[in-house]
Amino acid sequence: MELTQLSIENARSAVQERKITALALAEAHYARIQKEDGQIGAFLTLCKERALEQADRIDRMATEGKPLPPPTRGVRTTAGSKILNKYIPPFDCTAVARMEAAGAVVLGKTNCDEFAMGSSNENSAFHPVRNPRDLGRVPGGSSGGSAAAVAADMAVVALGSDTGGSIRQPASFCGVVGLMPTYGRVSRYGLIAFASSLDHIGPLAKTVKDAAIVLQAIAGRDPMDSTSADLPIPDYVAELAKPVRGLKLGVAKEYFGDGLDDEVRHTVELAIDKLKTLGCEVVPVSLPHTPYAIPTYYVIATAEASSNLARYDGVRYSYRAPGVKSMAEMYRRSRDEGFGAEVKRRIMLGTYALSAGYYDAYYLKAQKVRTLLTRDFEEAFAKVDAIVTPTSPTAAFRLGEKSNDPLAMYLADIYTVTADLAGIPGISVPCGATREKLPIGLQILGKHFDEATILRVAHAYERSAYTGS
Ligand code: GLN
Repeated sequence: MELTQLSIENARSAVQERKITALALAEAHYARIQKEDGQIGAFLTLCKERALEQADRIDRMATEGKPLPPPTRGVRTTAGSKILNKYIPPFDCTAVARMEAAGAVVLGKTNCDEFAMGSSNENSAFHPVRNPRDLGRVPGGSSGGSAAAVAADMAVVALGSDTGGSIRQPASFCGVVGLMPTYGRVSRYGLIAFASSLDHIGPLAKTVKDAAIVLQAIAGRDPMDSTSADLPIPDYVAELAKPVRGLKLGVAKEYFGDGLDDEVRHTVELAIDKLKTLGCEVVPVSLPHTPYAIPTYYVIATAEASSNLARYDGVRYSYRAPGVKSMAEMYRRSRDEGFGAEVKRRIMLGTYALSAGYYDAYYLKAQKVRTLLTRDFEEAFAKVDAIVTPTSPTAAFRLGEKSNDPLAMYLADIYTVTADLAGIPGISVPCGATREKLPIGLQILGKHFDEATILRVAHAYERSAYTGS
């Protein structure tokens, strides 16, 4: 097996047993990036010198047994936007710092839709990412660079963010595992904010076990993020070994209606049958407010984005328009030149939804529907342990296919936005492919703070798919 195909588990034990060095592992990934990323475009910033130093430290730790967590600050972070094209953060992101403390080597920062707004990675201000499984297709978004980097063996694992599906949908399009933890399970300190009541950090990985290992490393209360929950964290890897026999899995007809591609439907149905043969009981459930999820999400997400993005004014962050004559002109031109079309569209929509006179009709109404969507899940979870659905209504679409039609693009999130709105965890696990060999993802949604169960179901499914048992 190539070094770049190792899972976290295998890589870690190989380094620990001195069969390979962390340095060789990092070098192998950079060689792979060098070879592949010209056509895929998954990375925006590489930090090789820093990564090799960290790898060297890891190698010394392996021989001396001394933990030495290094800092993560100082690597350019753009959020895929021109307005941050020179931004070097002066502080550490908690999730990244926790990964490094657990021995990870950060290779670089990946491409994404600008400020995580998009479903195809075509909204990056730098360049789109191509799907490693078919270079004519999108990798999904917004964490398309993270999904593509893992799918193309340019990284062992990656972090992404999910506000409306941006970990699970690209995982599904690229044929990797993507986990969105419960809202509050992972600190967002250091994550560039899009919509604060919806943003989550989570892993994209080659296996469910790797996703569990990463969650273990990054989960837990952080005094720097007041929304992070102070709750016990299970041993996610140990939980994977528990049997799935007897678990009740809900299937909601609202996730199998019009707009679902036939091949995706068929493949997901087969995956659900497989789970039945593993001893799970499939129970019909109803999530009646699902048809309102997309409009609700796009009102709340744009409203919060319009407020979060007010800080990019040319004064405090990197891009400032040159040659301006007044302060008003500086604000106006910096924002005009620094933000892309989709970001501007959302700032305008969100500002409108929050404005006096429209607040009750749009924002407040959306918050009420959000409560109804959350109640749908609460009622369903009174009867079942997890809910299984397709991750996305289609497999990866072609570059350019939806980029001129924002509404068609928004519909790509139809099965994922509900979990963000309700704050529940969700995972996408590969469950097959179309005739054109495009990956299809099975989504498993869980109760608040019950990542252990969805990881367990995903792991059992993944194992049965490999062993055929
Ligand atoms: N595609 C959705 C959007 O454009 C979700 C993005 C995300 O989860 N960051 O808002």
